[in-house]
Amino acid sequence: MTATISVELFQRAKKLIPGGVNSPVRAFNSVKSSPIYIQSGKGAFMYDVDGREYLDFCYSWGPLILGHAHPAVIEAVNIAVAEGLSFGACNPREVEMAELLNRQIPYLEMVRMVNSGTEAVMTALRLARGATGRRGIIKFDGCYHGHSDCMLVSAGSGLLTGGISSSAGVSDSTASEVIVAPYNNIKALEEIFSICGKDIAAVIVEPIAGNMGLVPPVHGFLEGLRELTEKHGSLLIFDEVITGFRTCPGTFGQVCGVTPDLTCLGKIIGGGMPIGAVGGKTDIMSQLAPLGPVYQAGTLSGNPVALAAGLTTLDLLIEENPYPQLKKMTETIASELNSFAQASGLNIHCNHHTGMFTLFFTGKTHLHNLDDVKTCDTAAFARFHRSMLEQGIYLPPSQFELSFVSTANSDRDIERYLDAAKKSLAEVAI
Ligand code: PMP
Repeated sequence: MTATISVELFQRAKKLIPGGVNSPVRAFNSVKSSPIYIQSGKGAFMYDVDGREYLDFCYSWGPLILGHAHPAVIEAVNIAVAEGLSFGACNPREVEMAELLNRQIPYLEMVRMVNSGTEAVMTALRLARGATGRRGIIKFDGCYHGHSDCMLVSAGSGLLTGGISSSAGVSDSTASEVIVAPYNNIKALEEIFSICGKDIAAVIVEPIAGNMGLVPPVHGFLEGLRELTEKHGSLLIFDEVITGFRTCPGTFGQVCGVTPDLTCLGKIIGGGMPIGAVGGKTDIMSQLAPLGPVYQAGTLSGNPVALAAGLTTLDLLIEENPYPQLKKMTETIASELNSFAQASGLNIHCNHHTGMFTLFFTGKTHLHNLDDVKTCDTAAFARFHRSMLEQGIYLPPSQFELSFVSTANSDRDIERYLDAAKKSLAEVAI
């Protein structure tokens, strides 16, 4: 594929921006290709600088659940922009967002707005340590929680894509405070707690793992985490940066009936603008400055423009309840692809949940943890990705990520995805 202007921009970018990108997976390294520069997006489609149209299944990695440039979101942002970009002082939308989140998710008794998922997690971990007076954190192999130092130990997403288990620049002492456990294995966690439970400030988990591709929790896993953390006086943190407002107008914690102590949100709650939030029980949240001794702050936190986009997005999701339709679309994709795989003897398997899915290039049909996911043929995925792109379908450029659908998708888009995928699968020889 010759994407002239994209190629030229990438050459210029590489001279000044490390790897040419401002976030590693965008480099397209794992699909042995070079990035496409996007000029604009509308509904289910993105348009690159060379005038090509793509049916998008990445949706900015999840925030754009209403599709690109939704008119109501753009209008709300325009109104907010005209009023001023930032005040560094309190603004009414902060109160509206806190009230909306508390109304939809009553166990978020208090919330603090930040600017990214990374910040939300950083804050939650500091709070957990401040509130418990302990240092240890347990995370799960293949889960990604942003790029704060201690969360880069055995992380998923870009680190998994790049084959890096941990990042350089993370001190040994930081890494030593984090214990990495296998996802979906409550026995392993019981053992860890029996050895050092009294040192564990928190267990952090993606309640549906998305950053090693979509791996749902097995029955009893999240309930087991709740029991163990309660028993040992540790906090349970659900990182719902992806899952918040993705599967229902609230959290996956509400869907599965497990209430964490703290919840991290991001992506959808900002409607495409930079945002994050941490929320939870009043006694823990009131440890935050200026009420309590745990410090956290942000020049642009609670930004009025980001909140305008987020509030409008959430209002629409609550009003229109598109979740049954999102569920139906992702179910169709998964069931068609899995039947196709069976009929054609292909080594692929599609995992899905409302509004999101991952097509794994493996012969395994039950993927429960990182070891299962690592059986994937990433070279086959790379060929598939390139073939889909040539057919005008834009996927996240990594095997270990989620694809998303949005309310802008029609059944015709899903048919188009399936036709293209079947054609690509026949081509890529797996
Ligand atoms: N937590 C999860 C579960 C995520 O998927 C991500 C980003 N994909 C983050 C945290 C970090 O969010 P951000 O990129 O906004 O810092």
